[in-house]
Amino acid sequence: MSEEKTKVTDLRSALEVLSQYDDELIYTDEPVDPIAELSGVYRYVGAHGTVKRPTQIGPAMIFNKVKGYNDMRVLIGLLSSRKRVARLFGTTPENLAFMLKDSVSNPIPPIVIPREKAVCQEVVHLATDPDFDILKILPAPTNTPEDAGPYFTLGMCYAADPETGEHDVTIHRLCVQSKDEISMYFVPGRHLDVFRQKAEAAGKALPITISIGVDPAIEIGACFEPPTTPLGFDELSIAGSLRNQAVELVDALTVNARGIANAEVVIEGELVPNYRVREDQNTNTGKAMPEFPGYTGAAQAEVPVIKVKAITHRRHPILQTCIGPSDEHTNMAGIPTEASILQMVERALPGFVQNVHCPSPGTGKYLAVLQVKKRFAADEGRQRQAALLAFAAFSELKHVMLVDEDVDIFDLNDVIWAMTTRYQGDVSTVFIPGVRCHPLDPSSDPAFSPSIRDHGIACKTIFDCTVPYNLKANFQRSEFLDVDVNRFIPGFTKK
Ligand code: MN
Repeated sequence: MSEEKTKVTDLRSALEVLSQYDDELIYTDEPVDPIAELSGVYRYVGAHGTVKRPTQIGPAMIFNKVKGYNDMRVLIGLLSSRKRVARLFGTTPENLAFMLKDSVSNPIPPIVIPREKAVCQEVVHLATDPDFDILKILPAPTNTPEDAGPYFTLGMCYAADPETGEHDVTIHRLCVQSKDEISMYFVPGRHLDVFRQKAEAAGKALPITISIGVDPAIEIGACFEPPTTPLGFDELSIAGSLRNQAVELVDALTVNARGIANAEVVIEGELVPNYRVREDQNTNTGKAMPEFPGYTGAAQAEVPVIKVKAITHRRHPILQTCIGPSDEHTNMAGIPTEASILQMVERALPGFVQNVHCPSPGTGKYLAVLQVKKRFAADEGRQRQAALLAFAAFSELKHVMLVDEDVDIFDLNDVIWAMTTRYQGDVSTVFIPGVRCHPLDPSSDPAFSPSIRDHGIACKTIFDCTVPYNLKANFQRSEFLDVDVNRFIPGFTKK
């Protein structure tokens, strides 16, 4: 199976690729309630990641009938399996990060196409219509009964720097607050928030589009962060490079912004200056939604608000969503993290790091496993240099595990084996306390550790599970005879 057979250009062609396999996509006609039920179902079917057990890796799922909506399907879990992501990119799970790294180095900027060719504007709902109501048009799921409200979890938020005109695309937590208002939560430092603050300082609104249901290359490319994609780097150009075809944009109908032309849904609006709401103003639960570390985020006291001006969509649209702590997040955040680390270590230590994996229990952001190859005595110690480079490549990284070239970093059983037989806690652990990491890690808090001065600061740690170079002879894994298993089991394929 390769990308050449079905070229992925949008969500529907991506679903076509998956429908060629018997284990990647399932449908149901059973009507589902978008309030808590839809995510409650998929939690069991295929969320995995940091979701509370029981859960599993499974197919993506389309709910054909959503209670209260006539012509609206909901897709969940498109990227919640690394194997599925690899199939959507025509490569192997082990090669994904290398593919992403090459795409960042060869960006292809997006282009603007005429409105008459933009399928995302086939159907138009204007907010000036007195009956306009976001939730009457779009079945945004409420993920658990205690959430602050219905959220758009996979919106590609796209806006321009009001000073330079440079664009940025990022995924943010978007809570529907009223018939025409959506709150937008920013972790400090995000590029779109920089744009928003510039506009606000000038007393102006920031025009923005939210495109939902797009080529998965856009969804993964959007998750790159600095320093790999510094302020001013339009992450849509990574998707352009991945597909060797520029992402097509279209001018919005009601605001001075551009949406993704073949998106299933585009929400057009403006971030209003000097206007904030309490994220859970409608429910007073104190909770936001399930976040990627596996815990429900606290509702923010004051979040910026998008005043929605229009919703446009394709005919028979598919609203795409995800469960925040699912493997979908691991893949969207983790594969760009892996690519960012590979780019950094390859520049500094060419040929030393063999591959990187940001596995599911590490949320994609907090844990990286680096596979290194000590080639000669002078490589001893370079593994820890590689770990320091990894921390520099991605500031939210908390733990780095280092293993040798004979350990399968995509099999965590093998990684834990290395930690068991090639690691001694007192000499193989390096603590780097007092470094700012990520606020959604609940252990990064002064109440947890006296070395933490402020919430979001953590102790970065290196777990060096590599064999000291001069001891390598003592750590040879048992060598079995290399045989042709097909003689005994025809059609058998080695992993
Ligand atoms: Mn950016």
